[in-house]
This record gives sequence, C-alpha cells and structure tokens, in this order.
Amino acid sequence: MRPEFIRNMHKVFKFGGASVKDSEAVINMAQIIREHFVKDEVLVVVVSAMGKTTNALEEILYKCIDGFDYKNDLEYLKNFHINIIRGLQSANEQTIIDELEDFILQLEKSLESIKSESSISESEKYDRIVPFGELISTRILSNFFGDQNINNSWLDARKFVKTTNDFREGIIKWDKSEQNILTLKDQAGLYLTQGFIGSTEDGRMSTLGREGSDFTAAIFGNILNAESITIWKDVPGILNADPKLFKDTSQFQNLSYAEASEMTYYGASVIHPKTIKPLANKNIPLIVKSFIKTDQDGTVISKEAARKLLPVTILKRNQALISFKVKDFTFINEEQIGLVFHALNENLIKINVMQNSAISLTIAIDNRRDKIAALIKSLEHAFDIEKIENLSLITIVNHEQKSISRIIDYYNVILEQRTLKTCQYIISGAVFEN
Ligand code: ASP
Ligand code: MG
Repeated sequence: MRPEFIRNMHKVFKFGGASVKDSEAVINMAQIIREHFVKDEVLVVVVSAMGKTTNALEEILYKCIDGFDYKNDLEYLKNFHINIIRGLQSANEQTIIDELEDFILQLEKSLESIKSESSISESEKYDRIVPFGELISTRILSNFFGDQNINNSWLDARKFVKTTNDFREGIIKWDKSEQNILTLKDQAGLYLTQGFIGSTEDGRMSTLGREGSDFTAAIFGNILNAESITIWKDVPGILNADPKLFKDTSQFQNLSYAEASEMTYYGASVIHPKTIKPLANKNIPLIVKSFIKTDQDGTVISKEAARKLLPVTILKRNQALISFKVKDFTFINEEQIGLVFHALNENLIKINVMQNSAISLTIAIDNRRDKIAALIKSLEHAFDIEKIENLSLITIVNHEQKSISRIIDYYNVILEQRTLKTCQYIISGAVFEN
C-alpha cells in the first residue's frame, strides 16, 4: 500500500549550469546535498548541463545542419567533461569516463543521422541533440555521488516529463507527467534527474525552452506537492537589478508570486518565466539562494509581498524593433492592426513593447531571425516594414527619478513608454555598468 505522504516530506532542489561548471563546483554541490538530504524524505534534485554545454551543443548542431565540420567542437566538449571527471578524483573515474565516451558516440551517431534526414524539422533535430548535455551531467553526478556514499537513484526525465511535440518549446502534458511523477512518492530517497528535457507521447525527445530547468523543478514540485523548491544560484537571491550592470542593488527577502512573475515577464533572467505558476497554484514557496554562501537566507517567493517597494530594473537584450507602416496615405486602422496581431500569434511571437502612430504600428520583440523572417513574409503585402536590430529593452517597475536618470542620462533611447508604475526604454548601443 502506498503510504500517505504529507507535504513536508518532499523537496525539490534545482542546480543550474554554473553550479556544476567545474569539479570544484560539483564537489560543492555534493556537499550541499549531503547536508540537506533527510533520510525518509523524497528529495528530487534537478540538474542542468555543465557550464556552457548547451550553447556548445547548439553550435555543434548548427554546424552539422549547415554542413560544417564539428569534430573539434565535439572533442572540446568531451575534454571539458573529462577534465571535470578527473578533478573529482573519484574511485569510479574510469567507469564515468567510459560512460561519457558512450554518450559522445551516441551523440555522433545522432548528428550523422540528422544530416541525412530531410523530413524532420530543425526544432526536432535540436531536441535530438541538445538534451545530451543534461544526460551527461546527471550521469557524472550520479556516479560521483555513489562513490561518495550519497545513495541516489538516477531518473531519466524523458520517462517522467511528457510534452506535446512542439519541439524546442514542449508544452507539458500534465496528466501523463503526473501519473509518472507520483510514483516517486512510493519510496523515500534522493532522486537525481535532468532539467529542461522530456519526451513526447510517442517517445521522441523534447525540450522545454532555454533555461527550462527551473520549470522542470516546478513541475516536480507541483506534482509532488512539495514543501518547497530551492533554486541554488551563483547570486545571493533576487536583486532589484543586475549587479553586473548597476551599482547600489538591493536583495529582496520576500517577493509575492505576482511580483516575481511580473519580473520574469519583463525579462529578469533569474528564474524561468514558467516556473512561478505551478508553484503558486499549490502555494509552494520557491527559495532562490546562493550555492556559495549557503548559510544566507536568499529570497523566498510565496504569497507574501515584498516588505519594501523597490524600483526593479530589468534588462532584456537582443531586441528587434519592427514598424508596420500603411502603404497609402490613410491612417492605420484596427483591421490592419488585427492583421499584425494575427501574424504574431501564428508565428508564436510575443510583443515586449508596442506603440502606434497615425500611420504605423511599432513593436519590440525578441530577435529570433527565423520567426521575424516568417512574420515579415506574411505581412509585406499589406505594409512597408522596417526593422532595427541590436537593441535592448530596459524596464523599470516602481520607478523613481534616480532609477530613470541612470537610463536616460546614459543611453540612446529610441522608444519610451511610461505608466504610473512602469517605464520601458528601447535603447541602442552597448549596455555598460553605471
Ligand atoms: N541547459 C539548459 C540551458 O542552458 C537548461 C537550463 O540550464 O535550464 O538552457
Ligand atoms: Mg543554464
């Protein structure tokens, strides 16, 4: 009989690429698990690919698709992992390296097969290659933990997280995923699994969108009705601006789900935008804290609002500004605006800022070239379309004069929008520290 677990017997931890980027980081992570895992509980540890592996795999994939040689890149990726494994000085070293080599062979085979398959989409090709990063990282960790007497079960996330076949942006099939994930409640223990990856109902690999490991943690947390989710990061918690770009930042002790979700909407990269909802639905706190200064509290995201209203400055890079101008000398009307919205929806493009004038509608969107090309193609019959690239969007929520000055005094603002609570600026040129 399945024991009736209560909420405080399950937790989920998430470790991103930076927390496993070299052997020292891996050893630190193992120490965190050792200190926090409580026997008789379920702890699901969701892990990303090591360091910048996902970027490297994207590079390799695009080289393969474009017919360039990727052997050196693959060799580099293999050696990057071998160096980490060696640094762990594990008694299992050879086993771990053998396993890595197996993965690299599988990866090579998948790349070879992609070359000859013209019938599958580029997105599906992506999902056949990029998940190797997470598979490799979690196998290394699982073996290393075993060697360190940290008993763990390695879970293949593809068997638990089920998605639609919208490759690269798989949508969760909650019923199916729930059936799979709930089985974990049968047995207490430490489960180690991959973030970001899943599979379709017919068993093809899928991914949840870049930086999607946070979302994976939220999926497990929601289904297990966890006591809390902890995202371990290289920052002390959630700050009101990126400390690499702005001086005088402050950390939030608390944020409400709504406040945190709003920040991710505007592009705060500290957590993946889809992470909040599954947790808010079940009132599960999300803790964001440092994997270096583990004794510090971090930021707790829950029902409770921030104690102090702070201006929050968020930067979103790589924006494109697109203007749709009517072709004759009439004013732009709602029917024409409707055409633009319809095409945006068809191409799954999200508007970050928009503004209209007498004769045009201007939008700022993420600069995904494939999507923008499709958008322009479908609307060029109706509008004169202009595109400006290499822009950034800066959003300030709860603005006050100082937070505004440090944008408009320093940057070349090409579009501005201001409401009582929020200011947004599209700027051109490099973003620097000030
Ligand atoms: N490894 C994936 C990425 O870099 C997923 C993640 O880190 O959350 O996008
Ligand atoms: Mg990452």
